Amino acid sequence: MIAPWLQPQWDGINLAACPNALLLHGQAGIGKADFALTLAKALVCEASPNGNNKPCNCCEACRWFDTGNHPDFVALVPETHRRFMPNEALEGADGDPSPSKKTKQLRDEEGDSVEKKEKKNIAIEEARSAIEGLMIGTHRGGNRVVLVYPLESLRAGAANTLLKSLEEPPSSTIFILVTSRLDRVLPTIRSRCRLIALPPPDRASGLTWLRHEIAARPELTVSNDELETIFYEQGGAPYATLDFLSAKQDQNEKDELFVSIQASRYLLQGLFQGVRIDWLDVAEKTHKASFAVLLASMQRWLADLQGSAQANAVRFYPKHAGTIGVLAKQVRIEKLLRLWKGVTQARRHENHPLATRIQLESLLMQYQQIFGD
Ligand SMILES: [Zn+2]
Repeated sequence: MIAPWLQPQWDGINLAACPNALLLHGQAGIGKADFALTLAKALVCEASPNGNNKPCNCCEACRWFDTGNHPDFVALVPETHRRFMPNEALEGADGDPSPSKKTKQLRDEEGDSVEKKEKKNIAIEEARSAIEGLMIGTHRGGNRVVLVYPLESLRAGAANTLLKSLEEPPSSTIFILVTSRLDRVLPTIRSRCRLIALPPPDRASGLTWLRHEIAARPELTVSNDELETIFYEQGGAPYATLDFLSAKQDQNEKDELFVSIQASRYLLQGLFQGVRIDWLDVAEKTHKASFAVLLASMQRWLADLQGSAQANAVRFYPKHAGTIGVLAKQVRIEKLLRLWKGVTQARRHENHPLATRIQLESLLMQYQQIFGD
């Protein structure tokens, strides 16, 4: 299903003349995966073109796609993202809840298991063999689609194999690469793709869509007020908001997203304190959550401080406009900009497991120092 705010981008794609590599990029949690899957399905659909570019959902190819059995659809997706894929689309997902990964439960100094990190990456061997398999013809004689999602989870070795494949594209093969971190995509890969920027919705349409989705899921209970708060915390990303509500409903304390969002709330409460922030405590209580989520929250908060200080505009946390306005008056703008740079740099290495806590402490300490001299 294409999110309504992505319809213009969808309409811009001509399936009959699709480039052999597309790079879909945009903020996390706005519907890129759904967009990519619908596109993949439309490309393998065998019904005669119906004018609206959409998959017919009735032909044999569409049905195979839905059950994850289409032989010309290859999905390179790490374990952490497999829940977005059609049923059993992937090897190892055939009802076995614990795929036979032999990774040992090693722990690094941060206490995160190595296995957990491995799950965030696409296995190199899996990627290589899938890409090498493209040398043989397609099974159905139509298009073959290779989805890589998210692209940043492809590690260097596998990325090189992908690059070779993009340089000499196998016939009838279309690569759909998806990323929320365009800045981390290798320029050599980027230059061989047609880039399609997928935007987030404006606030009103994002909230309307969410209310509609929530109405269809009676198990999700949330007040309008709470919904807006979470939506803003998620940087206006509706899919991310919905994911959070589901995790919250399940009271799934082990869900990584849930843990991260609880932690970023704690982080925000710390940031509210301005110069009085107890940064050691905040780092202590949050450092085990996803560094990427924490950094994104911090970046949004700093953007609002800057916006408030320079243009009296608050974009991400309008509910806290009052607090932000007060803090913005105490901020030394050049220090704020330096911290902003620091956070941006940290985001480039956010999946690097080392020293999360030390980095977090350092950034929070710098935050305390942006207030006053
Ligand atoms: Zn079809």
